[in-house]
Amino acid sequence: MAGSSIAGDVLRWRASSGVGVLVPGEEMLPPGVVCGFSTRQGGVSTGAYTSLNLGFHVGDREENVLTNRRRFSEAMGIDLQGWVAGQQVHGSDVAVVGRKDRGRGASSQDTALPAVDGLVVKESGVWLTCYYADCVPLLFWDTQGNTVGIAHAGWRGTLAKVGLKAAAKMMEVSGASPDEIHVLVGPAIGSCCYSVGEELAGGFDKAFGRKLLTRREGRIYLDLKEANREYLIRGGVPPEQIYISGLCTSCLDRVFFSHRRDKSPTGRMAAVIGLRER
Ligand SMILES: [Zn+2]
Repeated sequence: MAGSSIAGDVLRWRASSGVGVLVPGEEMLPPGVVCGFSTRQGGVSTGAYTSLNLGFHVGDREENVLTNRRRFSEAMGIDLQGWVAGQQVHGSDVAVVGRKDRGRGASSQDTALPAVDGLVVKESGVWLTCYYADCVPLLFWDTQGNTVGIAHAGWRGTLAKVGLKAAAKMMEVSGASPDEIHVLVGPAIGSCCYSVGEELAGGFDKAFGRKLLTRREGRIYLDLKEANREYLIRGGVPPEQIYISGLCTSCLDRVFFSHRRDKSPTGRMAAVIGLRER
């Protein structure tokens, strides 16, 4: 089921030396905020990782991942030395990082921040990253462009409210109120493709009622992006400041890796956000 296309999405395709990235329109962002999402196009990896795999932990050759990360950095106009990553354990812990953390998780998974699925920063030149292949990447900024954040939300992280916790940490760091928080919900597996079992559906039914679940041909489908949006709205983020990409990682096989569609092994895309020096 073809559930999404790039035309008309909040994200726009931008190609740089063959590397395809997806970025929001500049008019959406305060000055100084840089953010975007990688695609699988423009890298050097082969086989199941063709071609721009950015994940170290999925069995690809490390030197290829590094080359891919450099290529994506160039396409985004940022430096790989400034990347910071959490180890992503499908939890809800959010860490505040700064320039001292530049490079953690950039060239090796071992140096990523342990047990963390969300990151917040107010210093410039620190590029918060997360890696995904169906899970929901969430990017945060405040109206003033003083602070940015990122979160990785699979179904576990979503139910554990990692998005809301990242928003709360943003507000703590920047002093912003909920109505100054903006959230970009990136490409992820859509309700067109994300079939779930009864037990998991039950967990979301309990949290949100039936509205995020649809039944088709004897299967139950979950809208994970909408679940994240719901929690953020409950936390006071204005609905008009939550921007959702309609792109489905499972539908668009030439654009994205998809853990569900490709089975294991497959590659990972990256989401990135940071503040440029002003
Ligand atoms: Zn789909």
